[in-house]
Amino acid sequence: MSDVTRMTAAGIAKSIADGEISAVDVARAHLDRIAAVDGRVHAFLHVDTEGALAAAAKVDAARAAGEPLGPLAGVPVAVKDVVTTKGVPSTAGSKILEGWKPPYDATIVSRMKDAGLVMLGKTNMDEFAMGSSTEYSAYGPTFNPWDLTRIPGGSGGGSSASLAAYEAPLAVGTDTGGSIRQPGAVTGTVGAKPTYGGTSRYGLIAFSSSLDTPGPCARTVEDAALLHAVIAGHDPRDSTSIPATVPDVVGAARLGATGDLTGVKLGVVREFAGEGAEPGVMAVFRDSLETLVKLGAEVVEVSCPHFQYALPAYYLIAPSECSSNLARFDGVRYGLRVGDDGQRSLEEVMSLTREAGFGAEVKRRIMIGTYALSSGYYDAYYGQAQKVRTLISRDFAAAFDQVDVLVSPTTPFVAFELGARTADPYQMYLADLFTIPSNLYGGPAISVPAGLSSGLPVGLQVMAPTLADDRMYRVAAALETAVPPLTPPAL
Ligand code: GLN
Repeated sequence: MSDVTRMTAAGIAKSIADGEISAVDVARAHLDRIAAVDGRVHAFLHVDTEGALAAAAKVDAARAAGEPLGPLAGVPVAVKDVVTTKGVPSTAGSKILEGWKPPYDATIVSRMKDAGLVMLGKTNMDEFAMGSSTEYSAYGPTFNPWDLTRIPGGSGGGSSASLAAYEAPLAVGTDTGGSIRQPGAVTGTVGAKPTYGGTSRYGLIAFSSSLDTPGPCARTVEDAALLHAVIAGHDPRDSTSIPATVPDVVGAARLGATGDLTGVKLGVVREFAGEGAEPGVMAVFRDSLETLVKLGAEVVEVSCPHFQYALPAYYLIAPSECSSNLARFDGVRYGLRVGDDGQRSLEEVMSLTREAGFGAEVKRRIMIGTYALSSGYYDAYYGQAQKVRTLISRDFAAAFDQVDVLVSPTTPFVAFELGARTADPYQMYLADLFTIPSNLYGGPAISVPAGLSSGLPVGLQVMAPTLADDRMYRVAAALETAVPPLTPPAL
């Protein structure tokens, strides 16, 4: 048997089902790999060795008893730390939640457990998912396995880095403005943001509730689709969850893997061209378009005139919602409490706790959001941003009248050096230039490895209409067949 940490999730599940390897051995191999390399990568904030081995043993027992196994039974998965996990620390990368163990599982976690997936632990992230490099984690950064002096993207850098470092074959992320796709792109892995409302937010530590979307991270498109199918679907515990059937994303990925895109129309957004992506990234993007045309697709230019306002609109809407969502961290209900000496007032304790518990970027967002929502400014900022959001959704609707999906680079630049963009917040926000429009609209989008620029991975983004998640999997899987696998240097 080849090294199990290099296998796909689909391959691991098959080997377990066929009795070639036990789920416990698979879990041990990944835990050993984490022990060997995570000191250098720092993808994990918490490794749940006992929990993983117990979950794996349950799968082995089920198999021995002849019970039917789900398509990912026994496959290890790493979970972004913004997702609550019963009894397992969930900090969202923040000091304010240090030591907090949630009393319940997020819906996506219970679905994974029911399907027999084996949770290895919790992955590093920018504090409360605010950031594009994982440098804003209160627990120190994650390092990109392709080059340990560079960032792994963010906010879910730990999830994507764990895949690129072969510490896990699958991971879960959350995407509010690009935090699944963007780390996927810069680590040479796949990251998919499902349709908003297609995956449950129940049990996510909320950042921006009208945008937050959990989704799958994997090394192959088919693996991402398999995990998507496990976690997606209506959840009555989430008021914005969509009561619709989940599109056949696994079937679509397999169809795409035949490498035939005859009849598929791809839209290239004219306004993105002037947005200043690095020349190396644009070169890979043009190569991808050529490849997709060779596979039978047709490329059409479309205009989305309001996309240029997506970034400023997002940076009003997301902070506004976060300023409200983060009010719950008051030093009373969860985690950290500072200055509670019996003398100070409740208000003083709350203030000291928030002062000590939140990092600078989180405080900046709370202040911007509070300002944008304050009376007298609400219409000029938050209200205006909501109008832009509607116009962007109309741009998408008009584009999807002409084409099946939109394609773009996932990020304007490859993984940058640690520290290169922390001095000026705007430089960090630019990382999400191409990912934010689909969040504002609510449609699904995926990043798939497309090639290398200066030896570093570049992703292609495929955006689809709401509830047509299957379309993006088909196109992404087709590109995957034509791009040589991107393998990071040995760690
Ligand atoms: N980088 C964006 C932000 O900082 C997106 C984050 C995300 O998707 N969670 O808000």
